[in-house]
Amino acid sequence: MERLTNVARTGQAAALLYIDLDRFKAVNDTLGHPIGDTLLRKVAERFKSATRDGDIVARLGGDEFAVIQSDTPQPAGAQALATRLVDLIGRAYAIDGHLLHIGASVGVAIAPIDGREPDVLLKNADLALYRAKAEGRGCYRMFAPEMADHLPARRALETDLRRALALKQLQLLYQPQYNLASKLIIGFEALIRWHHPTRGVVPPEEFIPLAEEISIIGAIGEWVLRTACKQAAAWPVPVTIAVNLSPVQFRGGKLAETVTSALAQSQLDAHRLELEITEGALLNDTNDVLKTLNRLREVGVAVTMDDFGTGYSSLGYLQKFPFDKIKIDQCFVRDIDSHVERQAIFRAVTGLAAALRMKTIAEGVETEGELACVGAAGCDEVQGYLTGRPISAEATMALLATTCSAEAA
Ligand code: C2E
Ligand code: MG
Ligand code: MG
Repeated sequence: MERLTNVARTGQAAALLYIDLDRFKAVNDTLGHPIGDTLLRKVAERFKSATRDGDIVARLGGDEFAVIQSDTPQPAGAQALATRLVDLIGRAYAIDGHLLHIGASVGVAIAPIDGREPDVLLKNADLALYRAKAEGRGCYRMFAPEMADHLPARRALETDLRRALALKQLQLLYQPQYNLASKLIIGFEALIRWHHPTRGVVPPEEFIPLAEEISIIGAIGEWVLRTACKQAAAWPVPVTIAVNLSPVQFRGGKLAETVTSALAQSQLDAHRLELEITEGALLNDTNDVLKTLNRLREVGVAVTMDDFGTGYSSLGYLQKFPFDKIKIDQCFVRDIDSHVERQAIFRAVTGLAAALRMKTIAEGVETEGELACVGAAGCDEVQGYLTGRPISAEATMALLATTCSAEAA
């Protein structure tokens, strides 16, 4: 930064490049920190080969870097460097037998035109970076004054999300799960929705990762648990309630306490609660996570492996923890009736689950053909648009009331 100040004082042009790695977080979350660290070292080497001796490279934290380039005609120098960085960092990495692809988005601000003070330059480079990400990532953008006119949308979304809980903009929908043999509802999965005052309904895929990043997933996750337990406790039929957990909720060591507290407060029988976790939860601090899961199972809570088949090493986890249920991912269900290889995978998974005394549920069943096929492949339960879309708490009550009276009749 001192270099920037000097440059600003002498009036000689210099460039600040703000670089953010695309998809790095996903690698870190799915393959674990050691591979993430190796990847970062390789990225650092590529930075070295793309820059020149006089350039200063700094890691700003996480997956963000900055480069200060001086003694080069601008903006041509920065544009050439940004192009090199996007190209080099975007090439594949081979680490421990994995072929990894990440990318780089770059924002550029030039001193003194885009600012003389380091903090102004950094802010402007950040705005340009934001634009690069918004326009598809894997590219660079030069700062332009109009970028400062509107607050980056992500920042606005962050601010809104921090207030969403307090403003009661979050809601849980419930999607029914059916037993294939009895054709009866055996439970519901709670799925969160955010009703944004101007954006409308924001899907969880958009705001859950953001909530994880800005560390409010703990509060949101606790709200989900307490709300789902409370609403399920009032249902006229004692079917199960499945709640999704983010891997981040296992950090801090308070999850088991939160769950038992939600059960106590709602008076919900622990055997009616199911927690859905993904492989991501078992990647880091595995022993702590296993301890938490075992404590929860001791009080009677069931644990389901969600999105099975989409991660890297699902089979390893099956021997580390006795899951109650395996949820086979939608990607194996899609058009299974016309794909023999999906049928083969499906049968293998249901066979494996049966041998391990775990139940199986098929996710995202949309057609009669898919339903017949997953049933024939030995799956125990189904959930999908065909048998029922996610519905409101009131509609869930009504649905259970009619099944209640239908059974009585
Ligand atoms: P998931 O746990 O795998 O949930 C299943 C997703 O598939 C849901 O999307 C559901 O609406 C959708 N779905 C169900 N049946 C069908 C179908 O037949 N066809 C298609 N195309 N889709 C179907 P949704 O509600 O958008 O949730 C997406 C993801 O967001 C969930 O995936 C889950 O990972 C996460 N999520 C949702 N609620 C919560 C929550 O309360 N906490 C956390 N941590 N994550 C949540
Ligand atoms: Mg789920
Ligand atoms: Mg899924």
